[in-house]
Amino acid sequence: MRQIRLYPDPVLREVSEPVKEIDQEVRTLIQEMIETMKTHGGVGLAASQVGILQRVIVMGLPEEEPIAIINPELSKPRGEDLLEEGCLSIPGARVTVKRATDVMVKGLSPEGKNLKIQATDLFARVVQHEVDHLNGVLIIDKLPKAKRLEFELNYIRTISHEKIPTTLKI
Ligand SMILES: [Zn+2]
Repeated sequence: MRQIRLYPDPVLREVSEPVKEIDQEVRTLIQEMIETMKTHGGVGLAASQVGILQRVIVMGLPEEEPIAIINPELSKPRGEDLLEEGCLSIPGARVTVKRATDVMVKGLSPEGKNLKIQATDLFARVVQHEVDHLNGVLIIDKLPKAKRLEFELNYIRTISHEKIPTTLKI
């Protein structure tokens, strides 16, 4: 179990480094990230959200086995739709985000195998959210300026009331 870093923790703004070698430390990190994601009812988590600046993401979609992708790369985005997202690192935030409905994901499995996955729908959305984290990008960056200001003004009050629900915790 790892502690989730909360906005405005500066680590969330860093660009994560590619993993050079998949060793036991990386595999342990992945196991702990999956555990942390499940404990918080999330469907995805990036390593930067637990303060580790390496390009590792985990995802656990409803009724599917959790998966981990090391050094994920996205290409060929197609289609777009809007959905409200939350973020485990920004309690209470709810942002309607436009994302591609289909995207090609390449990366490595925890065993070091090459992965190539055609992601669609919720999987595509979550993987885009997590890769944003690896690049220091947060859902609140997608808010129009006035709404962003409103968010910042209300946020401190919000995090003192942890019960505010978010829709999609990633
Ligand atoms: Zn997030």
